[in-house]
Amino acid sequence: MTAPPASPQTEGTCPCGAVRIALAAEPLAQVYCHCKGCQRAHSAAYVPRAIYPAGAVAVAAGTVTRWVNVTRTMVICAKCGSHLWGEAEGVPFKGVNAALLPAGAFQPDMHIWCKDAVMPVVDGLPHYADVPAEWDGSGERMHWPT
Ligand SMILES: [Zn+2]
Ligand SMILES: [Zn+2]
Repeated sequence: MTAPPASPQTEGTCPCGAVRIALAAEPLAQVYCHCKGCQRAHSAAYVPRAIYPAGAVAVAAGTVTRWVNVTRTMVICAKCGSHLWGEAEGVPFKGVNAALLPAGAFQPDMHIWCKDAVMPVVDGLPHYADVPAEWDGSGERMHWPT
């Protein structure tokens, strides 16, 4: 666990208000994730995620706990149980639950892991079957009707 950054650019807050998340950088990407891990963690068809450099995400206040979901560790609020972010050993970024960001902060760039989608979404964003080639994915796009 790294120390909270001195001056976060943005702060996320869990629904019960106990945990505040300090975000000390701009997000690397903002996505709707349709992966099975997100479906399990949130009991939702897909979730908004803001992906930050791992070192830019820290607990500013409150107590968190962790559980392993598929291959990733989910960091959750110890009081209300809300999912805060996902992280994995050696992975240089963390995927923050973008529903916890301040209003207007979530500006999605794309949909990822669409091959696992249980509820395809039709919009003007790119729909990647897994993730973009620059992220070591196939880069393959889904062709949901528009
Ligand atoms: Zn996911
Ligand atoms: Zn909470």
